[in-house]
Amino acid sequence: MLLTISTTYHPATDLGYLLHKNPARLQSLEVAGGQAHIFYPEATAERCTAALLLDLDPIGLVRGRAGASGEGFALEQYVNDRPYVASSFLSAALSKAFGTAMNGTCKDKPDLPTQALPLAVKVAVVSAPGPDWPRRLFEPLGYEVEIETTPLDPTVPEWGDSRYYTLHLRHEGLRLQDVLTHLYVLLPVLDNDKHYYIGEHEAEKLLHRGGGWLPQHPERGFITRRYLRYLAAYVNPTLERLMEGEVLEGASPPDPLSEGRGGTGFAADETGQVSNESRLAPPLPSERGPGGEAPASTDPKTSLHDQRLQRVAHEIYQLAPKRVLDLGCGEGKLLRLLLRQPKIEYILGMDVSHQALARAAQRLHLDEMPPRQRTRIDLIQGSLLYRDDRLAGFDAAALVEVIEHLDPNRLAALEAVVFGQARPAHVFVTTPNADYNQLFEKLNAGEFRHDDHRFEWSRAEFAAWATAVAERHEYQVRLVGMGEEVEGVGAPSQMAVFGMIKSV
Ligand code: SAH
Repeated sequence: MLLTISTTYHPATDLGYLLHKNPARLQSLEVAGGQAHIFYPEATAERCTAALLLDLDPIGLVRGRAGASGEGFALEQYVNDRPYVASSFLSAALSKAFGTAMNGTCKDKPDLPTQALPLAVKVAVVSAPGPDWPRRLFEPLGYEVEIETTPLDPTVPEWGDSRYYTLHLRHEGLRLQDVLTHLYVLLPVLDNDKHYYIGEHEAEKLLHRGGGWLPQHPERGFITRRYLRYLAAYVNPTLERLMEGEVLEGASPPDPLSEGRGGTGFAADETGQVSNESRLAPPLPSERGPGGEAPASTDPKTSLHDQRLQRVAHEIYQLAPKRVLDLGCGEGKLLRLLLRQPKIEYILGMDVSHQALARAAQRLHLDEMPPRQRTRIDLIQGSLLYRDDRLAGFDAAALVEVIEHLDPNRLAALEAVVFGQARPAHVFVTTPNADYNQLFEKLNAGEFRHDDHRFEWSRAEFAAWATAVAERHEYQVRLVGMGEEVEGVGAPSQMAVFGMIKSV
């Protein structure tokens, strides 16, 4: 499948800066299901076109599918349209190839992403539920839509048109970031199939990428349902969150053109309420919020952190644990999410800081809690560096953004306490991904995201630590990127999920 993006903005070759892809070079990268090639069929000051050619491996796709379902369909690779149809594969490739542009960042020309450009997009080919759907999806966003149909068989005109179309979109002035985001969300919506397992983070992706424009879209219900098509349970809550966010935004819906960089999503905060303070990770989170110049509503720190906490809470939820530890619980944001899971019978929050615990008690309104609820939670002061019998007998433990606050030479003590002595069945450890730091504009090389961080690990360093810990204490470990992946540097945050290997 082929996607081209053209502009006549002057100089048109600025498209290369925006996409972070040099017009003079052919670039290829591995993407889900195959390879993406990026090249520029034309690159002059008057007109520039970038092309993304997605070359999927039909045999590989079928193998992957057979593996997942347990049985293959031997002929599927010969009849499967996946390699040729724009779908979630193209979305995944767009995000990997043009993630930085989608996030509205341009290293060399920082103001360029805010610029509205005349843009033309061509997608070959799209499979749509009906020829009116591309219009219903793209016209409300201001695009001029043209659909090139092809007869199913030119020699038998009465068979009508094929269900595959070439889609042409034109816009007189839109940020490239918006166009990429629209394509990212709407191409899989047009397509019937969805190639990969849809997890709860699909809902987060939709809120993140669609938050700035979807609430005003007349087809938001259809878009949300189709985007989350195998996840009926997520559709209504996601729509509610989109719309609640919209209501709270005030009377004037945000204009996709004028919206600032932070305005891309809504998320429930730790109380489960959608608020202005709880937007999902914006394009380029600068974790520090230096100088506090960012208004609370767009404080990227809150956003990225909320995303993390929700992810951890959801992972914990899936294990249906009865007793959960939050180690280094800080002000209790995760505790609040955990309290909302009725199946958890008991939650213990521990922190070394008395001040943090007092704040947690206040935020959770412990003193006003009904007695039955109050028996579900305790807060204790303690250090993760010392043996503590109170930590034994738990099904799951979370250490969210805690390890990097310890001197590296204390990690062995923490390891002994958590994995050697307390030994919860599952442990979730999150920490910043240092590989990603180069994308934080305000962070100089070698600096950390917070003054109190003693270290920040690359993905390789974290993986090495986690694997060694797992091996020493008989746990399995899985590493997960948290937040939107960016080509070459990964996601802003990383998590290790440990599961105890049970002796038989
Ligand atoms: N998990 C919380 C807070 C992260 S900040 C959240 O995600 O919001 C790190 C926390 O770890 C701080 O509250 C700090 O007081 C706590 N901490 C640092 N060293 C600790 C130690 N040795 N034992 C227990 N908690 C510690």
